[in-house]
Amino acid sequence: MSEVALLDSVITFLAKPLGSFIDGRPALDEQAGVSEIINPANEQVIARVQDATAVQVDAAVAAASRAFKGSWAQTSPYLRGVLLNKLADAIEQHGEELAQLEALNSGKAINVARGLEVAQSVVFLRYFAGWTTKINGESITPSLPSMAGEQYTAFTRREPVGVVAGIVPWNFPLLIAVWKLGSALATGCTIVLKPSEFSPLSLLRLVELATEVGIPDGAINVVTGAGKVGQWLTEHGEVRKVSFTGSVPTGIAVGAAAMKSKLTRVTLELGGKNPAALLADVNIDDVVPGLVMTAFTHQGQICASPERIYVHRSRIDELEQKLGAALAGLKIGSPLDESVQFGPLANKAHYQKIANYFERMGDGQVVVTGGRTVGDKGYFVEPTLLRASSPDDLFLTEETFGPIVCLLAFDSDEELIELLNDTPYGLGASLWTNDLSKALRMIPRIESGTVWVNMHTFLDPAVPFGGSKSSGIGREFGSAFIEAFTELKSVMIRY
Ligand code: NAD
Repeated sequence: MSEVALLDSVITFLAKPLGSFIDGRPALDEQAGVSEIINPANEQVIARVQDATAVQVDAAVAAASRAFKGSWAQTSPYLRGVLLNKLADAIEQHGEELAQLEALNSGKAINVARGLEVAQSVVFLRYFAGWTTKINGESITPSLPSMAGEQYTAFTRREPVGVVAGIVPWNFPLLIAVWKLGSALATGCTIVLKPSEFSPLSLLRLVELATEVGIPDGAINVVTGAGKVGQWLTEHGEVRKVSFTGSVPTGIAVGAAAMKSKLTRVTLELGGKNPAALLADVNIDDVVPGLVMTAFTHQGQICASPERIYVHRSRIDELEQKLGAALAGLKIGSPLDESVQFGPLANKAHYQKIANYFERMGDGQVVVTGGRTVGDKGYFVEPTLLRASSPDDLFLTEETFGPIVCLLAFDSDEELIELLNDTPYGLGASLWTNDLSKALRMIPRIESGTVWVNMHTFLDPAVPFGGSKSSGIGREFGSAFIEAFTELKSVMIRY
């Protein structure tokens, strides 16, 4: 099957000088360094993006600060919701353009870019738009004694924290940026976003659309570049909150820097080593398609994807055979080919990391399928299934963030709970069973921000999401995000 034809708008966008976007317009600086943006399917340069300078980071925070005190503060909650919905409309109208940019830049299969990244960006933005008019405190009756007939009342206000720095990883550059800007703008904050140096393109197009639909200048700014730019933002004295998504080591560094700066608030959405557990009663034929989808969509580069699968010993041979066959049948190829299910890894550094894991395979594990790089152009690898014999196996302990899943047999429910919790991480876990009574008894014992039953990695804007243990601090979505983006002010009145 052939590749989809690139839209003229995509070709024009890629040819433009690109860089940071500050106060409603592109901020280009001839003196700035330039990063080449690589298409991971063919290793060709598709765009050049200027790296933000420290002066531009200051300008972006200053613009966000002006909008926070001015135009955005003067935009009523209702109008904020209208504007977020207009941005969602614009994403829908430009959906194919954004999906093509994503497929070109991050190697996401075009159907995943359209149906997951772009479509879910719309769903989440509309959810945040609905919250703008519903962020309130509560009224309280104090118990203070009345000495001379005076009375007391009290209430709380939910006030926006101020300028937010949103630091985004490379795997879902549009959707994760939308989570951050939607949360910030819905609560009355303004934001400076920093995309990953590997995949800034779809966000740079999004922020143009935000200006076109009338979101005030300075409410959403983007600064481009590598970790240094994120560090400048985190340490900036006028940034009141950092919303970070990325790896555990970077998250710890960001959290420490934010605390040291001005006790800047942080939300950390970090990595994991997520388990799926298949109990003895599962129907393997029913489960295999779900496991393929959850563990191998976007080549396994999804933070909550399961990388370790514990299977009751009575069922592991059947699972190994059927899951292995399903993976061997996935079509690997260009992300712009609609019939392809499995594109390249998103960037060279990650490809090298996964290739290195391939070299370490076979010592302790059986390679059921996969385990090799594919071709000599582009960052393609095979979807890979391993079977380990010990819970200490490195493929059951280290986050690969790639398409490598490792199986291990278990015998009892008690042993399973120990295996599930035997990790410093706690982002997502799943139980696959028809015995709901057993699942409900196990759920409170599983140390994880989310537990799914008969599903895995499904995110819904109404359901809080975040990590326990070393997988993070704080929760996104639901009503939980409001706490993270607002300060609670108490007001007491004597009358
Ligand atoms: P990363 O930690 O290397 O980078 C994330 C972002 O932080 C990038 O924009 C990067 O430029 C920036 N950065 C790097 N150093 C910085 C510093 N010192 N200060 C401030 N910013 C800095 O992560 P990655 O490789 O882009 O993404 C993969 C990781 O992200 C995986 O571990 C994955 O599990 C995790 N992830 C988590 C979630 C979640 O919601 N929990 C979602 C997606 C990805």
